[in-house]
Amino acid sequence: MAQITFEFPDGRNQAFDSGITIAEIAKSISVSLAKKAIAGKVDGQLVNVQAPLTAGGKLEIITADSEDGLTVLRQSAAELLAAVVKREFPGVRLGRLAADEDGFYVDTEKDERQISADELDDLADKMLRVIKDNASVKRVTLSKDNALNEVSGDRYQTELIKTLDSDEIPFYEIGGQLVYAQVVAAPSLKDLKHFKLLSVAGAYWEGKSSNPMLQRLYGTAFFKAADLEADLKKRQEARERDHRVIGNNLDLFFVDPKVGAGLPYWMPNGATIRRTIERYIVDKEVANGYQHVYTPVLANLDLYKQSGHWEHYRDDMFPPMKMDDDEMLELRPMNCPSHIQIYNHHIRSYRELPLRIAELGMMHRYEKSGALSGLQRVREMTLNDGHTFVAPDQIQDEFKKILNLMMEVYHDFDIDNYTFRLSYRDPENTEKYFDDDEMWNKAQTMLKGAMDELGLDYVEAEGEAAFYGPKLDVQTKTALGNEETLSTIQLDFMLPERFDLHYVGEDGQEHRPVMIHRGLVSTMERFTAYLIEMYKGAFPTWLAPKQVQIIPVSDEKHGQYARQINEKLQAMHIRSAVDERSEKMGYLIRDAQTHKIPYTIVVGDDEVNNDTISVRKYGEDDSRELSMDDFTVEIMKDIASYSRD
Ligand code: ATP
Ligand code: ZN
Repeated sequence: MAQITFEFPDGRNQAFDSGITIAEIAKSISVSLAKKAIAGKVDGQLVNVQAPLTAGGKLEIITADSEDGLTVLRQSAAELLAAVVKREFPGVRLGRLAADEDGFYVDTEKDERQISADELDDLADKMLRVIKDNASVKRVTLSKDNALNEVSGDRYQTELIKTLDSDEIPFYEIGGQLVYAQVVAAPSLKDLKHFKLLSVAGAYWEGKSSNPMLQRLYGTAFFKAADLEADLKKRQEARERDHRVIGNNLDLFFVDPKVGAGLPYWMPNGATIRRTIERYIVDKEVANGYQHVYTPVLANLDLYKQSGHWEHYRDDMFPPMKMDDDEMLELRPMNCPSHIQIYNHHIRSYRELPLRIAELGMMHRYEKSGALSGLQRVREMTLNDGHTFVAPDQIQDEFKKILNLMMEVYHDFDIDNYTFRLSYRDPENTEKYFDDDEMWNKAQTMLKGAMDELGLDYVEAEGEAAFYGPKLDVQTKTALGNEETLSTIQLDFMLPERFDLHYVGEDGQEHRPVMIHRGLVSTMERFTAYLIEMYKGAFPTWLAPKQVQIIPVSDEKHGQYARQINEKLQAMHIRSAVDERSEKMGYLIRDAQTHKIPYTIVVGDDEVNNDTISVRKYGEDDSRELSMDDFTVEIMKDIASYSRD
């Protein structure tokens, strides 16, 4: 019989008869290992313990106490869920199923009503019953014909099996059901005790929006009860932090796909937060030598042909509009070409460099509909954009200046949870980028050099660069756990070349400047989403849409006094209001808390008589009786400090 050789993790090699299984190899090592083995891994590929192996390679035996062990546990849960769904809903079609670091999922499709979230607990009970009755997961193989016969009526399973180049199609027998083995499951479900079915959501077959939408059932599983509990708690917290949920509760913004997916409407509360951010950042930039401009969102398509956007970035752009006189107008996807026009409008001297042009620039990008998410990823956005034009020997200094400015801004917003990523071009896919190897190498080396010199930690990511140059991206995590870029600094030798930019040097000759693109606080959309999640809606006073809520104990007796106080505060540009609703006072106070308003002021007989106010700060248990003067000093200080507490 043919022999196949495996290399064990300790480097030892051993030959076995072809057709041997992981279960048998484990047994040859020790009986206890055979008991613990839930899967194998050959050359990085997971394999079922019962599958006959016909090729050797680097071998690992997977047990529960490993990352792969957890994957196998979740894959087993997915196969079990598929078997139960198949039994409970005759005629159901099953799409893909899989496990990842979050949990597992199974895609399903029924003729009529799809499986709803309300049915998940019941399905989980049925899974538990199967585990109790017979926890074994028996691997069987069917010939391709028999396999296709077995899944007939299920177009998705048929499609999956048809593409296989084998006449031994693996299935699992679980709880009396035969399901196609899409992933590697453990031979027994006895370890599957701590799992939960979480939610349902639509998912296109094979991720393509032209395909039917299936109903994806999500779940998660752990070996230990405590791990499951901690995970569920984290998920609950994430839900509470989700900017879409808070945005709705605090009436900050909405998106209505009927009117336009990815095109948010800012309600007055959200608009106040945005305006505060905008004023802050513009003032900060002006104080740091930036010149703010306004430029149009529309331009002749030729501008984006010259910049290279049309060639390299077209997939993200809205189609051009053809006008009566045949002019083609394009909604800009980036502001760089606009700022280049500003630079080029005058002859520039070396004395003007670094020349810093900035704008809250509105741009449009045709993001995939599946990627859109609240304010985090939208199709119309306003970027805190800036382009610095420097002489080549000023790059390092300017880069550091931008980084320092960014840190100052982060400090004011209390942002400390981020990582740096140097984003390079993808060496395998260079046609996506401007074609000039020497420039790419130069720019990438410079960026890395600057980071090293500053002693900052970073990860390097190939394929994440802009088409015109490498970037330093600042990465943050959203409440839902996705990594998103917040700030970015990008080095660009290309666009100055394309637009033939010059400055007159000290020598009286024309020289080529270098461009640094930078966004400090990202787009207003993404930044607001980020802040909502970071503050969980409890904005520091300077950002809060409403800073003070004044509640008269009785409108009749104290209403007038309340309105006087309100006028005084408003005259000082403090965002305050009197709650005029004729509800119980306890309700009004709780409502102010629910809306996370930084200061609640209550005025009754005592306050009117003493000419004071009773102040309670959000997050504090007790209220304090203060004079108006003392209060205004306190709140003005609070606003000026940008502080959260
Ligand atoms: P991403 O990788 O997040 O799609 P990008 O690399 O295409 O972004 P840039 O061209 O560098 O983005 O845009 C500048 C900044 O604008 C990004 O760093 C990001 O913070 C923000 N941004 C980009 N696309 C969107 C979007 N669709 N919605 C909201 N903000 C966005
Ligand atoms: Zn730019």
